[in-house]
Amino acid sequence: MAMMFAGPFLKFQNRPLLLLNVLERKFIIVGMVFWPQDLNLFALLMLSFVLFIVLFTVLFGRVWCGWACPQTIFLEMLFRKVEYLIDGDAQQQKRLVAQEWNTEKIAKRVLKHTIFWLLSFLIANTFLGYIIGIDELKLLVIDGPMQHLGKFAALIIFTTVFYFVFAKMRELVCIFICPYGRLQGLMLDKNSMVVAYDFVRGEPRGKLKKLEEEKPKGDCIDCKLCVNVCPTGIDIRNGTQLECINCTACIDACNEVMVKVDRPEGLIRIASINNINLGTKFSWNLRTGAYGVVLVALFGVFLYLLVTRKLVETTLLRTPGMMFQTQEEGKISNLYNIEFVNKTFDELPIELKLIKPANGEIRFVDGQQIMVHKESVGKSSFFLVLEESSIKRNSSEVEIEVWSNGKLIEEMKSKFNAPVHKKEKDEHKGDDEHEHERMKGGKHEN
Ligand code: SF4
Ligand code: SF4
Repeated sequence: MAMMFAGPFLKFQNRPLLLLNVLERKFIIVGMVFWPQDLNLFALLMLSFVLFIVLFTVLFGRVWCGWACPQTIFLEMLFRKVEYLIDGDAQQQKRLVAQEWNTEKIAKRVLKHTIFWLLSFLIANTFLGYIIGIDELKLLVIDGPMQHLGKFAALIIFTTVFYFVFAKMRELVCIFICPYGRLQGLMLDKNSMVVAYDFVRGEPRGKLKKLEEEKPKGDCIDCKLCVNVCPTGIDIRNGTQLECINCTACIDACNEVMVKVDRPEGLIRIASINNINLGTKFSWNLRTGAYGVVLVALFGVFLYLLVTRKLVETTLLRTPGMMFQTQEEGKISNLYNIEFVNKTFDELPIELKLIKPANGEIRFVDGQQIMVHKESVGKSSFFLVLEESSIKRNSSEVEIEVWSNGKLIEEMKSKFNAPVHKKEKDEHKGDDEHEHERMKGGKHEN
């Protein structure tokens, strides 16, 4: 939670450590800028992340849900703590719900929900900080909401959604909405380590008094504390269930009971069904091994693409809808659009060098020098001008090198379209006629 709230303020090389600007489609992760052109990297990273969670779920159940999911962390570490401070423990809360509406109940409800709403507002601002950056967020705060009504309205809508999730819906999100929870049944097997009740040791269960009278009984004294502390309200003694978010609250509660009744801890513990039933230890099987291999392969490809990714990307296209232009005496041109994505944090002066055809000339529509600003997209247009007499084909190949600060960035290829010079055409026509005659002669000879 501390990392989450501190995140927008953390900088790396004077840039945000993590910026997920979906509005401008720009992402900064540990000082590296990613653009929509890096979608392949993003897709690979997401696939690796999903597979990592699947592998972890197969091995350790819903560890993510209980220990890393922001929904659980905010709910258990923030909202429930506030609720316990104001409304008291579970029994006191039940009494408060049943109690008539009086000054005490109204005061507690108003205080609790005001704090809930303010916390939701803080969380919504934190998320906004990750999206637009903390510097931009500070400017919005300084300017005041009236100057940025659209953004303020979005902030209030998100605050209300967070409030509704944390104050009202709570674990219903985990049970009914979260797709990961619904997929749990597909991922777990009898070797998965989950929060499990040791039924071999615990059954037959029975109250402590009866236990003393009618021995032997299992270790479970049926106190139902594990059920009472469960945030999703399930009885883990009925087996692994979709609703279990692996928070381990039942383990702590049961261990306390076991200590009190002088029995070994671990009646509810992290274990696999095979471990409880057959006493087998954890081991990798074909499925987990295959997930592991695919995960390493995916992440390896991601790292390779990350290391070899270009920091400046160039796209060169002939301007659509235009064939060629007749320039001053005896010259023909084609118009091209060129686009640069500068993923670096430096200004890049761009220079184009015509490699093929060597006798052509590049003329920029809006000046000679292209300057692509840091973390941005630069666009320009230029004419490639050739002597009409040098044009030998209707469509010939063009090669252009892109240089910046004395470094070759990219080699681009395109086409130059123009009518062949008349003289050239006549010469070729002469050749063609000669060839035609020769063919005819050949035919005759035959
Ligand atoms: S209390 Fe136990 S059964 Fe309930 S969600 Fe947490 S780990 Fe699962
Ligand atoms: S807390 Fe332990 S002893 Fe009590 S009911 Fe649950 S499993 Fe049985």
